[in-house]
Amino acid sequence: MSDLFVDIVTPNGHSYEQPTGLFINNEFVKGSKGETISSLDPATEIEIAAVQAARAEDVDRAVRAARTAFKASSWKKLSATERGRLLVRLSELIEQNKELFASIDAWDNGKTYDLAMEDDLPDAIGTFRYFGGWADKNFGQTIETSPEKFAYTLRQPYGVIGQIIPWNFPLAMAAWKLGPALACGNTVVIKAAEQTPLSILLLAKLIKEAGFPPGVVNIINGYGREAGAALTQHPLVDKLAFTGSTVTGAQIMKSAAPALKEVLLETGGKSPLIVFSDADLEQAVKWSHVGIMANQGQICTATSRIFVQRSIYDKFLALFKERVRTASIVGNQWEPTTFQGPQVTRAQYDRVLHYINLGKSEGATIETGGQAHPTADGKGFFVEPTTFTNVKPTMQIYRDEIFGPVGCILPFEEEEDAIEYANDTLYGLGAAVFTTNLRRGHRVAAEIEAGTVWLNSSQDSDHRIPFGGFKSSGVGRELGHAGLEAYTQIKAVHVNMGNDL
Ligand code: NAD
Repeated sequence: MSDLFVDIVTPNGHSYEQPTGLFINNEFVKGSKGETISSLDPATEIEIAAVQAARAEDVDRAVRAARTAFKASSWKKLSATERGRLLVRLSELIEQNKELFASIDAWDNGKTYDLAMEDDLPDAIGTFRYFGGWADKNFGQTIETSPEKFAYTLRQPYGVIGQIIPWNFPLAMAAWKLGPALACGNTVVIKAAEQTPLSILLLAKLIKEAGFPPGVVNIINGYGREAGAALTQHPLVDKLAFTGSTVTGAQIMKSAAPALKEVLLETGGKSPLIVFSDADLEQAVKWSHVGIMANQGQICTATSRIFVQRSIYDKFLALFKERVRTASIVGNQWEPTTFQGPQVTRAQYDRVLHYINLGKSEGATIETGGQAHPTADGKGFFVEPTTFTNVKPTMQIYRDEIFGPVGCILPFEEEEDAIEYANDTLYGLGAAVFTTNLRRGHRVAAEIEAGTVWLNSSQDSDHRIPFGGFKSSGVGRELGHAGLEAYTQIKAVHVNMGNDL
């Protein structure tokens, strides 16, 4: 058992015990084959810890534990208020360990410690607390149909939810998935991303400490093609929820199809940001920079296609380049001056550099960056913040989700052109509009095909607000009340109070 915990000191000095097992029935256990996945610090390429990797038989064990827990009176008979209290308690435990969690996610993912503290942790804490509050406010309806008959609806949990999360916001993504599913009384098997398993395993410890009964939350580490696929194909899983690439999302939909299982998918994006000539230029530059460069560009809603009205295009471009030069400081996760850390893995680093080279060979112009960011010892997956102009809509850098600090800036003439360009994508996750004209702002917001539109900002996300994609960016909504509805199914109960047929 003790080899499933390692004593670790984070680079910023937090000592703690890192669980490395699979979390099934409130216990950390070994995978059936004893295989492990190594988690690296992307800044140094040094292993932080190796965690157990689940095979299909381990996933089966976890699903069966969740199935048993769903029927057990310790969960089934727990009042909704008590369920909510467990979630609030969990959010408090995370808050007490906020610096440690931020350190782990920064170390494992490569994001800056400051960003993890300002963004990921408040998001995770707030999401658990928010859904804890909803747990006992999940009502059905009463509907009268005739003087003698009426019906009422119950909002009931599905049962076992299979959840799969990505690596870009490890703890926060876990909170987005677990919070609403548990608030509604489901049990869960959640697969962490193989690149970032560490914070969610520490979360597992707190889930037990908060008082969740065994089997209610089961956490699996493992590769997508093995553990992920086994989870999506498991017959005892009642609903699937996934965040990641559109390609994988489509595979998950296929796995769900034979049994007509419902899916909740949050997938990729190639989000537009439109700057009209009447915009507050300083604000537009600041937000467009954050919109594509924050979190190393590894945000599904990253506003990677920036459209600027022709009359202010040159001025915007000059200011944007200056902003990248002064604000996009590349460095390790721990320096307070760092804005951009390393990409999460060598695979993502290679992918981003591949797209940068593709952009060059496609004939686009490099305005900033354009290569790997050199380090003294040659280690780390650092990329220079890269901006392209002279980009054509046919180019791959314009069409594909790169998921790195790589943006393109294009001019437009009229409002209808901007809307047409913005919507010229398979995706529809986010979109930002910069204008001081109120009517124009709302008009364009209504026309854009995206699940989220920001007027005069980019990347705002809040657990109270529904989030999800149009088109190939997803199915269903997470967060807010819509996120709660995703984890219950409606049952109608017809009542006959009379004697006539
Ligand atoms: P991915 O979609 O392959 O992985 C996301 C999660 O799905 C991981 O937990 C992974 O193990 C799992 N998974 C992979 N294949 C699976 C399968 N066949 N069945 C079940 N689960 C499976 O994404 P990735 O390989 O980590 O990244 C590739 C690209 O995906 C990125 O460059 C980016 O464009 C996109 N991405 C998007 C998001 C997002 O938030 N929308 C997050 C991560 C990656």
